[in-house]
Amino acid sequence: MRKQLVKAEKIEAVSNISASISHEIRNPLTSVKGFLQLLGEEDYPVEKRNEFLKIATEEVNRAEQVIDDYLTFARPALEQVEEINVQDELSHVFSVLMPLANMHAVEINQVYSGNIKITGDRLKFQQAFINIVKNGLEAMPSGGFMTVETVKSTREVHIIIKDTGYGMNEEQLNRLGEPYYSTKGKKGTGLGMMVTYSIIRAMKGRIKVSSIVGKGSVFHVIFPNPHSSEKLRSQNS
Ligand code: ADP
Ligand code: MG
Repeated sequence: MRKQLVKAEKIEAVSNISASISHEIRNPLTSVKGFLQLLGEEDYPVEKRNEFLKIATEEVNRAEQVIDDYLTFARPALEQVEEINVQDELSHVFSVLMPLANMHAVEINQVYSGNIKITGDRLKFQQAFINIVKNGLEAMPSGGFMTVETVKSTREVHIIIKDTGYGMNEEQLNRLGEPYYSTKGKKGTGLGMMVTYSIIRAMKGRIKVSSIVGKGSVFHVIFPNPHSSEKLRSQNS
């Protein structure tokens, strides 16, 4: 029963994501197609053509941002359950985002305790954390500190990501993960945290966020420790 439920949740998460991806990418592409057709049809004056090109370029950038939030690593549909080495994957996420961190003059501190393993889809795990870390870096446009820390308890694995960015007020915190909720205007998609929440939920994890405006934010992600459920299972059988 529980297994079926989990499967249904996973399918729902995946199909929600795929539906919004195609919607979010189709819109800008349709608009680009329209402008290309216009450019091919008539001899518009240079200013007009430049305006069309500018909008089309913005729309392509938009589609690219959406793909970044959804699919930097993750395949949309294939779910693979494997053993995930938390430290390896998180350091990979940080190395991918190193250019952004450097651009924002953010100092990164990684504190990994021991050899922590969880189970889930490795690439989706990376996507979930890339979205959290990217937001943290974007919240520190004029420098700051980011810390990632991992802690293992008998039953759980904790991943804590802190930034010293501009923080969130109560309303922003409540709306986090709501599709299309973004305070970044054209630079945001409002899809990153939705994807992160959905991946973490599918991995049977949970996430707690706290924040102070002007001080920074803490993202605390908790996964079940697979080792502990193995132990429990063998005790029960
Ligand atoms: P996007 O980054 O495209 O705006 P997200 O879903 O990734 O969309 O994030 C939604 C909103 O949550 C952001 O626009 C921002 O207002 C807020 N947010 C997320 N993470 C942080 C953070 N670390 N610090 C401050 N605000 C954040
Ligand atoms: Mg984001």
